[in-house]
Amino acid sequence: MSSARETTRDRSEELFARAVELMPGGVNSPVRAFRAVGGMPQFIRSANGATITDVDGRTYIDYVGSWGPMILGHADPEIVAALQEAATRGTSFGAPNELEVELAEEIVDAVPSIEMVRMVNSGTEATMSAIRLARGVTGRNKLVKFEGCYHGHGDSLLVKAGSGVATLGLPDSPGVPASLAENTLTAPFNDLDSLEQVFKQHADIAAVIIEPIVGNMGCVPPQEGYLKAVRELTSRHGTLLIFDEVMTGFRVARGGAQQLYGVMPDITTLGKIIGGGLPVGAYGGSRDLMDHIAPVGPIYQAGTLSGNPLSMTAGLTTLKRLRDLSIYETLERATSKLCNGLSAAAEDAGIETVINRVGSMWTGFFNREPVTNWTTANKSDRKLFGRFFHAMLDHGVYLAPSQFEAGFVSLAHSDEIIDRTISAAGKAFDSIKG
Ligand SMILES: *Cc1c(COP(=O)(O)O)cnc(C)c1O
Repeated sequence: MSSARETTRDRSEELFARAVELMPGGVNSPVRAFRAVGGMPQFIRSANGATITDVDGRTYIDYVGSWGPMILGHADPEIVAALQEAATRGTSFGAPNELEVELAEEIVDAVPSIEMVRMVNSGTEATMSAIRLARGVTGRNKLVKFEGCYHGHGDSLLVKAGSGVATLGLPDSPGVPASLAENTLTAPFNDLDSLEQVFKQHADIAAVIIEPIVGNMGCVPPQEGYLKAVRELTSRHGTLLIFDEVMTGFRVARGGAQQLYGVMPDITTLGKIIGGGLPVGAYGGSRDLMDHIAPVGPIYQAGTLSGNPLSMTAGLTTLKRLRDLSIYETLERATSKLCNGLSAAAEDAGIETVINRVGSMWTGFFNREPVTNWTTANKSDRKLFGRFFHAMLDHGVYLAPSQFEAGFVSLAHSDEIIDRTISAAGKAFDSIKG
């Protein structure tokens, strides 16, 4: 009997053949190309709730969620209606609009350390601008980041950068001037001693940038007390602390990781969820700090489409829904059930896994030891992950095509969807063992 899963992939194959002639690797963002897991990516035609459907008509339960933004699920009816209505009023003004004010109010209300915010168009833009702000304010050039943390593709930040860079095994990127990369120091995540050493060796550190919960080497939570210690160390040295909450903002709690752990950074970067699936990023902090940004202060940063009314509409509609804090309990329950189910299924099949999770972000590592930093994450069995990834696809579940990514559960992931995922995983684990 042939199942729906065995239908052809003619349309995706045809599109991919055209795409690789037109775009590097056939994609506009590297991890999408499936290089880490082998094979060829599906082209997606549509998405709805917890599922995505490819151009050959196959539907998958989706745990990528567009890499984080889709916390309400795909094609949420309220967002679609709001966008349709907003589009009739014009798609871009290049002038102030009311929605920017409302989204800024929502962010300032939610994120404890933000008093003022500047909208940009992506997470990358947010982190690049946050670093310029930190350097401009402190008059120092050096930057500390952590091995395996990804902060977008800005020059200063493509050093030991996790995610797609780790997936492709590129240590750094050609095209990043050594003179810039030299100013980026790195330390292992969850290791205070190493960070203290960096501070002993370098006096002129403008900022420490960190994913307070790492998502980009897979999900790796901070150990007890770690963020607080990083906060104290940076304050002692007059170094600004940047929490890159592009992934964790409005994901792990309405106020992000800083609310969850009660540790306040100087600058916060946001993206993903605050755009509700449209391109948005933002950076913010105290009024004092943000007053250094043009046109009030001398630090320049601008954007033709920044504060775009459609992006603001999708973001605002999403953030208003996330005022209902019971949403985070619902997501916690669903994701806990998912991860427990996956763990049990792996154990039944005799496969060793480590599943890390904070709220609705999670990663199952094919690993024998706890994953607490890049060194331990990197011990995961990528070959086994690749086989699991394809087995899950065959059983109708779409995971991120790399071991070093977080998975996301949305409000559309019902009990029934989670049950179907666990049962698919049971079959997938059985098919890859031995
Ligand atoms: C996704 C991500 C970015 C980059 O955001 P883009 O919108 O892809 O430029 C930066 N930092 C973190 C923590 C991210 O997860």
